[in-house]
Amino acid sequence: MTDNHKDKAVSNFIRTIIDQDLTQGKHSTVITRFPPEPNGYLHIGHAKSICLNFGLALDYGGHCNLRFDDTNPIKEEAEYVASIQEDVQWLGFDWGERLYYASDYFQELHDFAVCLIDAGKAYVCSLSQEEIREFRGTLKEPGRESPYRRRSIQENRDLFAGMRRGEFPEGSHVLRAKIDMTHPNLNMRDPVIYRILHAEHHRTGNAWHVYPTYDFAHGLSDALEGVTHSLCSLEFEDHRPLYDWFLDELPVPSRPRQYEFARMNLGYTVLSKRKLIQLVQEGYVQGWDDPRLPTICGLRRRGFSPASIRNFCERIGVGKSFSLVDMSMLEHAAREDLNRHSPRVMGVLDPLRVVIVNYPKADEESLEAVNNPEDPEMGVREVLFSREIYIEKEDFRTDPPRKYFRLAPGREVRLRYAYYITCVGMVTEQGTGKVLEVYCRYDPKTRGGSSPDGRKVKGTLHWVSADHCRRAEVRLYDRLFVTADPTADAKKRSDFKEYLNENSLEVLRDCPVEAELAAFEAGSRIQLERKGYFCLDYDSSPDKLILNRTVTLRDSWAKLEKKLAHS
Ligand code: ATP
Ligand code: MG
Repeated sequence: MTDNHKDKAVSNFIRTIIDQDLTQGKHSTVITRFPPEPNGYLHIGHAKSICLNFGLALDYGGHCNLRFDDTNPIKEEAEYVASIQEDVQWLGFDWGERLYYASDYFQELHDFAVCLIDAGKAYVCSLSQEEIREFRGTLKEPGRESPYRRRSIQENRDLFAGMRRGEFPEGSHVLRAKIDMTHPNLNMRDPVIYRILHAEHHRTGNAWHVYPTYDFAHGLSDALEGVTHSLCSLEFEDHRPLYDWFLDELPVPSRPRQYEFARMNLGYTVLSKRKLIQLVQEGYVQGWDDPRLPTICGLRRRGFSPASIRNFCERIGVGKSFSLVDMSMLEHAAREDLNRHSPRVMGVLDPLRVVIVNYPKADEESLEAVNNPEDPEMGVREVLFSREIYIEKEDFRTDPPRKYFRLAPGREVRLRYAYYITCVGMVTEQGTGKVLEVYCRYDPKTRGGSSPDGRKVKGTLHWVSADHCRRAEVRLYDRLFVTADPTADAKKRSDFKEYLNENSLEVLRDCPVEAELAAFEAGSRIQLERKGYFCLDYDSSPDKLILNRTVTLRDSWAKLEKKLAHS
């Protein structure tokens, strides 16, 4: 992946800044970081940040650190740390030795805080959380100074030491930076930098009773790691003056700069760990890797390849304005990659039995099928043919409408890789007229699917031999939500979950599929001819085949949008 990464790279405002910094000699190497908080699984929005940070480091021959922003002991778990590493690696990126934790810096961060106290730039405040909020003022009104703001340096030192040793209950004191209670930017009105939490931390255990806030820890961790370009999403723009203030006031070993870009938003889903966690914990989906979720592990289980996700992130680009990306863009990237790489197999999702009446009962034969017309190197395979086969119900109509070129009474079609067949009869259910079975004759001279007399047929159907097929469970997915922006719409109803699509999962059982499928390992990506791209589920085995549909072959979203536009 590294080889041609740079050629593909589309320029963006961050690259322009980096180019300038390098030309002007401000930096000689580029060091970025991806700083997830281990409080949930990564989603496709994080993939954008991962591709950006690791991608820039690769392109400029620099480094990208993976840093767990684990400053909040309450919501963080080792399970998330492991999943995040797995997902970053799966996406194709490598942090090498550069795996860090903000908790690695707890001592340094604490010492920085003491530096601020000693310089008279931080104080222990004993107002309640509510009072602090009240004193902060609003965008229109300036804040008021805390009565504790004038505590002596010695008193602040002693109190902070006591906080650290766990001598005070949670909420009794906080450490605040002493900046300016009338500052137009609320983040600069004496922000809290340490709070008391008597919680066990996933890495430091019970060693600490005070934990730094994000704003305090983040920029200083960047500085400790020598990060040059600290890229974050736009909601941190207002925090940048504070980010810079800490760097200005403290003896930091390097001077990172923060740049903000717009978050990715994807239609018909939610990209927020807080929301995703609700869907998982309240049982709306079957786990973090439910293929309907936009989590990286969900997309992986669904059958998206790492390359398709990287290409998608590259294409949507990096900008500064809000955008809601259409799911069809992600699906397009998936099709493009899967078309090139996935072997074709035949399988029938909604079977109708066809008996080839002139094919000898005891016979069977092996036909040659192409594994991937896009890639001759993928070779050919054998497909078994016999007197009884299955085709899709929708490929047969008793009263075919105009432009329907598939099977119908008296009509001839091609069976892919096999023969031409002509419908000569059928069995229907008494009363309903439902077609139960179809009778056809085959033309032995059309073996392989072409006629020596040049006779043309318009329809080509996929099929499987009834005697030789396997049965598979097939899972089809639809959008997770019925509205494009459930987060925005949630303001109209009480909760975003009210917009969940009740029919987002359809399970088909006992679908006849080519026996070949049993040879694929769980996780393999294949195309079922005419039916879409599928991935063998992790729980799939040769005895119990399970296929998850990644995407249909054509863009069903565009069609849907059109339908909606016309309705
Ligand atoms: P969430 O709202 O899902 O919890 P977060 O920003 O709180 O996301 P972090 O673990 O703090 O999650 O994110 C790690 C990095 O990923 C941050 O730099 C953040 O800016 C970036 N990131 C998160 N969501 C997106 C998104 N939708 N688009 C782009 N970058 C994102
Ligand atoms: Mg966060």
